[in-house]
This record gives sequence, structure tokens and C-alpha cells, in this order.
Amino acid sequence: MTIKTRFAPSPTGYLHIGGLRTALYNYLFTKKNKGKFILRIEDTDRTRYVKDADKQLVNTIKTFGLNFDKGPIYQSKRLKIYKKYADLLVKEKKAYYCFCTKERLDDLRESQEKNKQVPKYDRRCLNLSDEEIAKKLKEKVPYVIRMKLPDNEIITFNDLVYGEVKINTNDLDDQVLIKSDGFPTYHLAVVVDDHDMDITHVIRGEEWLPSTPNHILLYKMFNWSVPNFAHLPLLLNQDRSKLSKRQGDVAAEDFIKKGYLPQALINYVAFLGWNPKTEKEIYSMSELINDFEIPKINKAGAVFDINKLNWINATYIRNIVENKKIHQKDYKYILNFIKNILPNTNRAEDILQIFSPRLNSIIELKELSKFIFELPNYDKNLLIFKKSNIDLTKNGLNVAIQILNQIEDKNWDQENLNSVLNNALKEKNLAPGDVFWPIRVALSGLEKSPSPTEILYLLRKTESLKRINTAIEKLK
Ligand code: GLU
Repeated sequence: MTIKTRFAPSPTGYLHIGGLRTALYNYLFTKKNKGKFILRIEDTDRTRYVKDADKQLVNTIKTFGLNFDKGPIYQSKRLKIYKKYADLLVKEKKAYYCFCTKERLDDLRESQEKNKQVPKYDRRCLNLSDEEIAKKLKEKVPYVIRMKLPDNEIITFNDLVYGEVKINTNDLDDQVLIKSDGFPTYHLAVVVDDHDMDITHVIRGEEWLPSTPNHILLYKMFNWSVPNFAHLPLLLNQDRSKLSKRQGDVAAEDFIKKGYLPQALINYVAFLGWNPKTEKEIYSMSELINDFEIPKINKAGAVFDINKLNWINATYIRNIVENKKIHQKDYKYILNFIKNILPNTNRAEDILQIFSPRLNSIIELKELSKFIFELPNYDKNLLIFKKSNIDLTKNGLNVAIQILNQIEDKNWDQENLNSVLNNALKEKNLAPGDVFWPIRVALSGLEKSPSPTEILYLLRKTESLKRINTAIEKLK
């Protein structure tokens, strides 16, 4: 049997980080089992449709390397199929027309809630005669089609993550299958499509677990075999509330825009609910495919921890920059990214080299390297190291100017700068705090920054000397 899975997002906006995880787990499971992975766009809820969201979804999924074997397939192009199946159920008395108005349903719900009953449809339209139905249809009274649940039947299924789930049909609602606009509900479309597309494993968010018994009943009504289900645990904020936009980014695209690498995000997201039970934390896609197993998915909600994501992203960035020959494509990606955020692209590569060990996400480079492009205004007292004084500092800066002036442009590299400055310190018996500290501040205007030789190198000779002279002026 060929394993077949699908990722079935609704085009209601961006790709949620939870959606990315669902897509990833489907992908990993499919690849591991040499199956087929389908992308299906569930666009039958016209009230929630966002223009072009589908295209963006497709692009984002591809950005993460989750290549699908088939699709995107649009549900909105398959309306006739759903209608045909709904009609079949009506004919077999497994579904029925319901002409109740929204007002009536609202009142019903309200009174049930007041009486502490589970809100569900009271089946008023179930007993309409064929004549009454024909009359209403002729008069074009708006209607929906509802499934008719069997009474008092226990539905049992074995979720691959949650284990055995049991529910009595008396606790379920006669779910709407076709809405008054003629579109199918998610519940009908998902069952018809998963059957039609030979889906063997339905891997999706936990929020769909309560609907699954209705889905199983539909499979049974059609006499179709039921696929395997694996529901994925909720994603939570640090305070264990449901992961929401209010507490930070949740759109996968936003992380990319902020300079999180797709493969780092994938690595991180893989751990949201899955535990390989080893110490290993950095996983490439092929390693994930190799090690992924549904039984290793947890039931408990997974907390989204930005610090962990930062750590993983930082590890990827450092590794790519340190081994740029091996990771040429990724290195180019980072370089292109920073070229778009820096005011001047000439020094992009040097800047990346020097700042990469300090980055959680690439976009941080913009702030961190600001002083390279423009010297910030700083207090002259910052130039004086805590164990030094104004005279020693001025002297240190003057010595630095003399020495640096003698270095030719072609020798202006970090190694040489370091050795020349260190030799001068020894020769003239100067303390590092009287030379290195004030040079660093003179060049950056900051209390914390990369080392003086790194900045000297980034700024080159002319700009460096200019900034040191400005510092000397400040101290006069
Ligand atoms: N369209 C549903 C969603 O966006 C998919 C649910 C499913 O995978 O069955 O959440």
C-alpha cells in the first residue's frame, strides 16, 4: 500500500506556525515511507477567503522545501462532486434538508445554553414530508443539508497520537454538509476528498479531533474505508495559552522576513510536539525524515520557545558562515538577505563575517552594524576606561593614530592590525585599557561592540583615522 498524505490549508491568510508543523509532519512521514504528499486548498468557506492567500501559501510551503507530489488541488473546483455525494445521502435517508432560519437556530442555541444543554440541532426538519420538502424547494426557501446521525451509537477510533477515542452519537450534532450558498462544509468536503484522493493517513491539528467522529460516520454512510488519523498537539504560548498573534509572531512568513533561515525554522518546528529521544538538536531535513516516527509525537501541548528558536537559528548562521564553501547556497541566501537591509552593500560580506557569531536572526545585523555606516553621538567620558584617565586616554589615541597611519592600505587586515597594535603596546609599555578601549569607543561610539581590530578593518584606514581624530578633539 502506498502511503498518501495531504496538507489541506484554508486560504484565510498567512501560514500559521502550527500549519507549518502540520505540513512538515505530513511531509516527513510521507518521505520516510516513500509515499505521496498532496497539497489541497480548502477554499469552500467563502466568508473567510482572502484573495491570493493560496498563492502565498504555496510559495511559503515551497520556501521550506516541503515539496508536494500533487497539487495544489482546489476544493472550489470540485463543488459538483460534493453535491453529488450529498444528494446520494439524502436519497438514502442518511441526510436531510433543513429549512430552519438563522434566527430560529440562534434562539434554539440560546435556550439550550440557558438550560445547560449541549447546543445541537433539534431535528425539526427531519420529519418533513416529501410534499413539504418539494414545496419549499419549489418556493426556493433557503436550505442546508444535514447528516442524520444514528441514535445512541458508540463511535470508536484509534488515533495514532491520542489513542482510543470513544463517543456516543447522542453527544454529536447533525452536522451541516451543504450550506445555504450551495458550498459544502469542511466536514463533507474533507471526507469526500480524503476518500477520492486515497489518503491513507490524515495528520492534522488537534482542533479537528472533536469533528473526527462525524467524519468517521460519513465514511460509514458511504461505505468507504476509514483512513488512519493522527492529531497533533496544540501549540502554546509561554503562559500555556493557545499560541496566538497577541504574544508574538505566528506567521511562518514573518519569521523568514526577520531572518530566520527556513531550515532552522524547520528544525525548530520539528521539535514542537515530536521528541526523537536523543540529545541531538540540530537536524537536517534528511535526518528528520530518517528519524521521524508518529509514535514519538507527544499528546501534551508544545510551548513555543523563541529562545530555543534563536539558539537553533544562531547555530545555523554560524555554521553556514564558517563553512561557506560547503554551504554556498545558504551563504548566498544570507548575503542577499543582508544586502537588502544594509544601507550600503559594499561591505556586506565583511560585516556578515564579523557579526555572524553574535546573530540570533539575520535582521539583527541591521541594528548591530548601524555604527559602521554612521558614527553615533557619544559621551566623551565613554572613551575613558574605568582604570584609566583623560591624559592616558589621549596619549593612547595619539599613539594609535601614529601607528595606524604607517600601515599601508594593502596591509590593512585584522591580523596585521592586531600584531602592530600589540607590539606598540609592549614597546611603549601602555596598558590595553588606555589604547584598545578608547579606539573601540572612538570607532563605534558604543559601550559594547566588536573588537577594535574588527572595526578598524570594517571601516578601513581613512574612516578609522577620522573617527579617532574626532575622539581626540572631544577630549580637548
Ligand atoms: N482546512 C483545514 C484547516 O485549515 C484542514 C483540516 C484537515 O486537515 O482536515 O485547518
